[in-house]
Amino acid sequence: MTNYRFKNSEKKIRIGKIIGLARTYREHAAEMQTKITEEPLLFLKPESAVIFNNETIRIPTMSSSLHHEVELGVVMGKTARHISQTHALDYVLGYVVVLDITARDIQSDAKKKGWPWTIAKGFDTFAPISDMVLKDEILDPNDLDLVLTVNNQVKQQSNTKYMVYSVERIIEFVSCVMTLKRGDLIMTGTPSGVGEIVDGDVLEARLGDYCVLSVDVRKSME
Ligand code: MG
Repeated sequence: MTNYRFKNSEKKIRIGKIIGLARTYREHAAEMQTKITEEPLLFLKPESAVIFNNETIRIPTMSSSLHHEVELGVVMGKTARHISQTHALDYVLGYVVVLDITARDIQSDAKKKGWPWTIAKGFDTFAPISDMVLKDEILDPNDLDLVLTVNNQVKQQSNTKYMVYSVERIIEFVSCVMTLKRGDLIMTGTPSGVGEIVDGDVLEARLGDYCVLSVDVRKSME
């Protein structure tokens, strides 16, 4: 059981299920040589993958190619089921910047075989998340800068306004598939610029001026 960490709050909220979206930015879909889907493409990531600011991503022995994906994370504040876009933001508690770490070699193999992405997305330490900023501090979740640097070099830089779906539409869609509960986290997908990370790298992710997340990368301790 893991709780969120907050910026400017002592709240204790448990991290629930983690829902990932894929192919939500056209340029990222293109760099993966794939297409935007008509409806959001979902996967799940286990809560056991979560780490926080100043912690370490571990390279599992099963993979030789980890990729960074910087994303806006939406944290739900109350139970939401079949919510319309109009009311979707009423159910949001806050936002984080999240890294959807992916074992790209395992994922590519799974895609070829038509297998799920659970292994590629699910290793321990594959979901670094920042402290949460509460909803009221953010003017518009659909206009937030996302930046990721690796060893101080900018690798991903975009804005959530370039997402194919709005945050409201994402909540509507996901809540029509599965009931969303307080503490659940939606990772909204990554812009272009994804790339490999290796032992010794230092990653810094930013969501506007609201959230900063710094993690490093090390070999597995197994
Ligand atoms: Mg992703």
